[in-house]
Amino acid sequence: MPDAENRADRATGPRRVVIVGSGFAGFACARKLCRTLARAGDDTEVVLVTPTDYMLYTPLLPDVAGGLIDPRFVAVSLTDALPRVRLIVATAESIDLDNKTVTVTSDHHGPRELTWDRLVLTPGSVTRLFDVPGLREHGRGLKTVAEALYLREQLLRQLELADHEEDPEIRRARRTVVVVGASYAGTELIAQLRALADSYAARRGFDPAEIRFLLLDTADRVMPEVGEKLSDQVLSVLRGRGIDIRLGMSLRELAADHVVLTDGTTVPTHTVAWVTGVTGAPVLGTLDLPMERGRLKVGADLRVPGHLDVFAGGDAAAVPDLTQPGKITPPTAQHATRQGKVLARNVAASLGIGTAAPYKHRDMGLVVDLGPRFAVANPLGLRLSGLPAKAVTRAYHTYAVPRGLNRWAITLTYLTNAVTSRPLTLLGLVSPEESTFRASEGIRHHA
Ligand SMILES: Cc1cc2nc3c(=O)[nH]c(=O)nc-3n(C[C@H](O)[C@H](O)[C@H](O)COP(=O)(O)OP(=O)(O)OC[C@H]3O[C@@H](n4cnc5c(N)ncnc54)[C@H](O)[C@@H]3O)c2cc1C
Repeated sequence: MPDAENRADRATGPRRVVIVGSGFAGFACARKLCRTLARAGDDTEVVLVTPTDYMLYTPLLPDVAGGLIDPRFVAVSLTDALPRVRLIVATAESIDLDNKTVTVTSDHHGPRELTWDRLVLTPGSVTRLFDVPGLREHGRGLKTVAEALYLREQLLRQLELADHEEDPEIRRARRTVVVVGASYAGTELIAQLRALADSYAARRGFDPAEIRFLLLDTADRVMPEVGEKLSDQVLSVLRGRGIDIRLGMSLRELAADHVVLTDGTTVPTHTVAWVTGVTGAPVLGTLDLPMERGRLKVGADLRVPGHLDVFAGGDAAAVPDLTQPGKITPPTAQHATRQGKVLARNVAASLGIGTAAPYKHRDMGLVVDLGPRFAVANPLGLRLSGLPAKAVTRAYHTYAVPRGLNRWAITLTYLTNAVTSRPLTLLGLVSPEESTFRASEGIRHHA
């Protein structure tokens, strides 16, 4: 239902920028835009539409799944961090580019229509799903707090059940974890879950080798992003920890108590994580605009071609990579944050404040935390592994979380973890339904 008051205000009120999504790109854009407008004494309203009242620092979700970090510490409060922004905790359901409106809904009210003078689309991405029977019911992703918490709790719950199980086959199934996707997110996840399971076995006094971990990927190497040498090292360290890594392999089918691999092997299990890459957020599909690999096409100035008042960035946008002509920038937080700042600059320029600039950033490499005493990193082309990489990785994440209070909490947690063992408490915070792709990521149709 249209919001009549909202429409009446717009005839005379200040200009309005609506930002959809509060991830790395939307957050950085809102923060910089507010500062730029304040400096210029401009009263343009900045509205942030987002389903959660926090910005999620996703690179630490594997640590949440592994029980190392409290989920509150990776959630940056928008109310605290962006006091000048008008926050609307809701989901953008559809966007009318001709009438310049966005229709939003939340649990608390029906559809509302918001008008905008400038629109910034930063709704990020969701897990890329395939037509694998049973995937939507029995697989879980790693994009949200609900998914990360569920994976931790599911593993601990299954380990508890296995302890009391008389049937060796069922016990073995409960003690088996399958992760599909061996790029950095899936690999970090399996390393953290392995460490959690090892702690459990040590405290319950049985051999950790009884808990089986399987990492699958259709690619021919793990984490190709970090280059051959580091990738080989990761392979050997993870195999040394008893993780069964099968390359050139995926799932053919999932059921409640087993999966079938693409080579036909049946693996009994109750815990399956699907971390095989991402595609643009579902709302982009309502726009009827040109897309590239599931992402919205934009120019190097992050404007949507043919729509001068519409901008997009982050995982949601196919941004030309000016450092590698012909390519688009990869979906990483590193690019999303920097694109958020350029979005702010270019939106402000479109409002008559400052000048626009194209997006250009040379990739600075990755940092990948792989559980106890091991990490790999390739900052600025340097190849690091082991403890030096661990130090760089932890320092980088602590620095990159965009709020002091969260940084403080994460630092204290890392220090505490250095002298205590992982907590194994099972709080039952997330139900199986809340952690499905549909409920937690909003994937309703095939993505
Ligand atoms: C487990 C994991 C580990 C990662 N590790 C790294 C790493 O180490 N380094 C790195 O560079 N990158 C990493 N990434 C990738 C990084 O998280 C993404 O590239 C980054 O989050 C993209 O930022 P974004 O702002 O485009 O989207 P997101 O951060 O995904 O934010 C999108 C926002 O839009 C909101 N939204 C979605 N749909 C709607 C809608 N319809 N209406 C309103 N709001 C909506 C979402 O709720 C969210 O707030 C990792 C990702 C994962 C999942």
